[in-house]
Amino acid sequence: MSSLFSRERVALLGTRFSCECGAMHEVPVREVVIEAGAISRVAEVMQRQQLSGPIFLLFDEITHHVAGERVASVLGSAGIKVHARVLPGRPKAEYAIAEAIAAAVPADTAAFISCGSGTITDLCKWAAYRKGLPQIAVATAPSMNGYASGIAALTRDGLKATMPITPAVAVIADLDVLANAPMEMIRAGLGDILSKPVCNADWRIASLIRGERFCMRPFEMIRDLEHVYIGRAHLLQQRDPQAIAALTEALVFAGISMVIAGSSQPASGAEHLIAHFLDMRAAIDGREPDFHGVEVGIGTIASAAIYEEFLRTSVDAIERSSIESIWERGDAALARCCDLLPHAADAIKEAFAKKRGNSVAAIAEAEKIIDMWTDIKASARSFLKPASEIESVLKSAGAKTSPAEIGVSRDSFLDAIALSFCVRNRFTILDVAFAAGMLDRWTGVR
Ligand SMILES: [Zn+2]
Ligand SMILES: [Zn+2]
Repeated sequence: MSSLFSRERVALLGTRFSCECGAMHEVPVREVVIEAGAISRVAEVMQRQQLSGPIFLLFDEITHHVAGERVASVLGSAGIKVHARVLPGRPKAEYAIAEAIAAAVPADTAAFISCGSGTITDLCKWAAYRKGLPQIAVATAPSMNGYASGIAALTRDGLKATMPITPAVAVIADLDVLANAPMEMIRAGLGDILSKPVCNADWRIASLIRGERFCMRPFEMIRDLEHVYIGRAHLLQQRDPQAIAALTEALVFAGISMVIAGSSQPASGAEHLIAHFLDMRAAIDGREPDFHGVEVGIGTIASAAIYEEFLRTSVDAIERSSIESIWERGDAALARCCDLLPHAADAIKEAFAKKRGNSVAAIAEAEKIIDMWTDIKASARSFLKPASEIESVLKSAGAKTSPAEIGVSRDSFLDAIALSFCVRNRFTILDVAFAAGMLDRWTGVR
């Protein structure tokens, strides 16, 4: 397989290995091809992975044109029967659509190939999972980290849900296609991958406070790619093949790292909670949500800034009353969060109840945070990057960096920072800052 960078990373594909973190990790994704002209090798990849046709091939009108037609013709030339399905218009990643696709799959289908980016990949992996059949993901944009991940993000009853699925057997990313993806999608992929320093810091502090298993592999696995997509992000604007390849490889392996971790933690922390909150608010605010990765990029700048405040704050500056009032303050935050997101109120209440337990547990956890303040700082520091650096990397790629650029007011953004810790049972720097009474103070929200 082709990797411009690390042999060790590639050697993990299709293996099981015992790790320093104490876990036995499994990487079900067996092959990743990232190179110019990769689509011409799709039949070869199938053969190597012992997959046979007929293939159910899913794309939309755009990805049909940029890649789907070629995939179909390569398969056709290899004598592999194809059931092609084109989704009209601009399809959405909705559960009902994914179910309808699965229901209409011809009975003789032996494997699935998705040909698209976020939406098509999510729809197809759900359909393949429902049919119990293997899937290959053909990527058309380096816009997100879901090509090799073990979850499908689908909207169900108006709420975004992440459903566990079987990851793709192989990922094929043709640089001729990806380098020509819409620039906003390339920038979105950069925004999503830039969350690594903060979300891995979040995961690390969650392991300190909550005893969750933490593993360094996800963070280390793609560190050698950073000097290209961070150090030379301006080259993404020029569609430089090596920069696009590094970004794509980092995104694909970020998906794999979630499979290794058995959770999205190595790729999703406070910045994703902020983005998720903005997404859920979008309809109420009367705006179209921006690309996931664009929102995550802006959330990452905010999260990195919160970390900086946290690192500057001495434990002596924390008022005792903040700990004692954590339960009541939590009630107030939850009420305000549900007021702002009424359509998701039930799901939020459930998630928050799981997150904080009872009042004794909540106070005990806040005490632990204060006791471990210095340890938390030391652990987080090794992952973090300054907010100003993340901002300038995004800017050098021409990406959006402020809430205003995605149509979000300053007040709405402050709400997202102050309240998004309520929306999901995921422990992050936002919980640390809330426990210490800092979040309320910084955002002016109570
Ligand atoms: Zn993401
Ligand atoms: Zn591990």
